[in-house]
Amino acid sequence: MNRELYGKLVFELSRPGRRGYRLPDNHIGEVHTEGGQQPPVIADALLRQQPLRLPQCDELTVVRHYNNMSTNNFGVDTGFYPLGSCTMKYNPKINEEMASHEAFVNVHPAAPDNAVQGNLELYYTLQRSLSEIGGMAEFTLNPFAGAHGELTGLMVIRAYHDARGDKARRKIIVPDSAHGTNPASAAVAGLEVVEVKSRPDGTVDVDDLRPLLDETVAGMMMTNPNTLGIFEKDIPEIARLVHEAGGLMYYDGANLNPMLGIARPGDMGFDVMHINLHKTFSTPHGGGGPGSGPVGVRAGLEKFLPNPRVVKIENADGTMGYRLEMGADALGSISATLGNFAVQARALSYIMSLGSEGLMDVGPLATLNANYVKECLKDDYLLPVEGVCKHEFVFDGLRDKSEHITTLNVAKRLLDHGYHAPTIYFPLLFHESLMIEPTETESKETLDEFIAVMHDIAREARETPDVVRNAPHNTPITHPDDTAAALNPVVTFDALEQTEE
Ligand SMILES: *Cc1c(COP(=O)(O)O)cnc(C)c1O
Repeated sequence: MNRELYGKLVFELSRPGRRGYRLPDNHIGEVHTEGGQQPPVIADALLRQQPLRLPQCDELTVVRHYNNMSTNNFGVDTGFYPLGSCTMKYNPKINEEMASHEAFVNVHPAAPDNAVQGNLELYYTLQRSLSEIGGMAEFTLNPFAGAHGELTGLMVIRAYHDARGDKARRKIIVPDSAHGTNPASAAVAGLEVVEVKSRPDGTVDVDDLRPLLDETVAGMMMTNPNTLGIFEKDIPEIARLVHEAGGLMYYDGANLNPMLGIARPGDMGFDVMHINLHKTFSTPHGGGGPGSGPVGVRAGLEKFLPNPRVVKIENADGTMGYRLEMGADALGSISATLGNFAVQARALSYIMSLGSEGLMDVGPLATLNANYVKECLKDDYLLPVEGVCKHEFVFDGLRDKSEHITTLNVAKRLLDHGYHAPTIYFPLLFHESLMIEPTETESKETLDEFIAVMHDIAREARETPDVVRNAPHNTPITHPDDTAAALNPVVTFDALEQTEE
């Protein structure tokens, strides 16, 4: 790699003795405690023998280093980010302003209820809003991410069966198109994953499902629209079959965006669901956080939700207030205090600033944008499932396979044009999956530019395939050897020094 261009590690900028600060000389001398006793010292055996190898730099070098590094970052605020399944929409700045209000950021997590009535009201109001949006009886906002919500929701399902003495129900049915977190969460919850196949049109195969349903089934997890961006039309039939077999329906709400205010999982027959607030309700996310994965349940399952909960109460003087409550049947506690408050604050700000009318525009616009991009590109890219999609869609690589240009090549060539790459090689249903989700916040001009670039790449793939094969060309790191990087990863500064010797 071209490390001159990429910039150096802060360790390489280090020079012995360089310091960010130099304090004036101490004219007072050593301070001794009363009686001349030194404070207790740490035993020699426990002390480091060599000084810690920290970088030694002056302040300006450090400031330049981090500022330059920050400009190598890519986000929705710097460019188009069509990362399928992630809903990388623009996050209005008003939400940041609300979440960083000083009354919120300075609160201690263990503050007594009566000192944080505003925080509890925000939590409670969001809980009620999400219940309305999801068609559920109650929500908890405590889980920290979608996957954490899945785990919590599946624990609710287990608690429900266990409470009825129905302890043989340990199987959970998951479609082959599911996001990888679904089977992973099920395994962590102690459930056995059984896969159900998809039909050629990308939806769950009801005939494949029927024989899987028996008295050992705890439930079924579904994403709707599914990870191909296709609406699962047979949900009422599937929910009926699963319920008849005694199982519960779990809704993975990572794809709630196209349905906001238009269709509700609770009305489709789902019993338990999660919502990824960081996706649908506007928190800048990626790289592992921050997130929030509230879990909703239909009436009858509320008592299993984790502790603590926020409830509305009537004070002695007749005014209304809020209180933390610990439920006796709760499945336990799954997070510190009440989850990721700043993400919750952004979500409520997003909901209230759009209002119900604004929220109902989100889905149709996301759907329109996705279908526009899909229809404009399907002459050059292979569309395995025809028809109207919802908020995202999946190509199976380039239509013209003669030059063996892969989805990875196309994704890397997009970087040269200043775009974030789409999601690639997911879902696993196709060999060359390339998943695009433009979201509702992009203008027609942005989409048209992206479409033009995608057409250019398809033309290059035919005429000058090496340009695509060897991309990217003008990024800080150009075309690394993926195999070598996987077999011999250099992830520490010491290892870097060794490889260069
Ligand atoms: C993102 C996503 C998840 C996992 O959510 P996290 O918040 O990343 O843990 C689950 N299912 C689907 C379909 C997703 O897109």
